[in-house]
Amino acid sequence: MKKIALEEHFMAPGFENYEADVEKMMDARAYKEFALRLPEFADLRLQAMNNAEIEMCVLSQTSPGLQTEKDTATAIRKSQEANDFLAQQIQKHPSRFAGFAHLAMQDPTAAAKELKRCIEDLGFKGALVNGHTNGVYLDDQRYIPFWETLNNLDVPLYLHPADSFDKPHMYEDHPDLMGPTWGWTVETTTHALRLIVSGLFDRLPKLKVILGHMGEALPFMLWRFDSRWQIGKHSKKLEKPLSQYVKDNIIITTSGVCDNAPLLCSIEALGADNILFSTDYPFESTQIAADFIDKAPLSEDVRKRICYQNAQRILKLG
Ligand code: MN
Repeated sequence: MKKIALEEHFMAPGFENYEADVEKMMDARAYKEFALRLPEFADLRLQAMNNAEIEMCVLSQTSPGLQTEKDTATAIRKSQEANDFLAQQIQKHPSRFAGFAHLAMQDPTAAAKELKRCIEDLGFKGALVNGHTNGVYLDDQRYIPFWETLNNLDVPLYLHPADSFDKPHMYEDHPDLMGPTWGWTVETTTHALRLIVSGLFDRLPKLKVILGHMGEALPFMLWRFDSRWQIGKHSKKLEKPLSQYVKDNIIITTSGVCDNAPLLCSIEALGADNILFSTDYPFESTQIAADFIDKAPLSEDVRKRICYQNAQRILKLG
């Protein structure tokens, strides 16, 4: 079945140094293949898409990118350069590629301005942020005007995993659990829950945040969130149960999880309209991801929604 994919990464020129920590945690042979594919926008990428019947990929700068840049002026300059670079690549294949903005969240005002430029002038479909920026999470008060801009533009923010800011003691003897195997899931789920409990979605109820990796395990946890939240002491009063914000404001993709059990759980928990196909190129096999969704035990109506119709609606693709 034809597909649109949303968690598909590239690397803009001059971003190699930000990837050092990612490279360190991966097998050298596997990373060599990723390093070949990340800066490439032609035969390798298009062939993988064609083989998997992926009509369009929404491209994003690979993690962590500028989220770890220490100098704010450099981050602002490089975000504009990366977005201009991506726009040039999209122009070469406008029916196959679309873009998510890469933003210098070090300066929320500059990030909002660049987001507006990316959506209105470059035709991008939203933004993708690689987790916290030097330890600052997106529920911080300083980001409220940024979220308002996103809300006014009516585009989603894809919240992508990254390393935690500090190294929790529990990983001390097992640092290999800190990366994509497990630590990124904890980091990203917690970030999403921070957005919910900060009251962000009470303030801006139409906001949509996209999580990859089958919702980073959130769909599995909804009942317990509500059960335990209601007996807790809270500094902030929320208008709805936690599970309701997950259902109303979180959209998930299948990136990097090619497994029927969590897919069926996610459909049951969030509804098929909130689940979108993705592959996590080049870190996962495009073909395995496509075969998984093509053969998953779904009605053809639900498969269509997950493969491309939800993406067309949410990203307003023509
Ligand atoms: Mn990814």
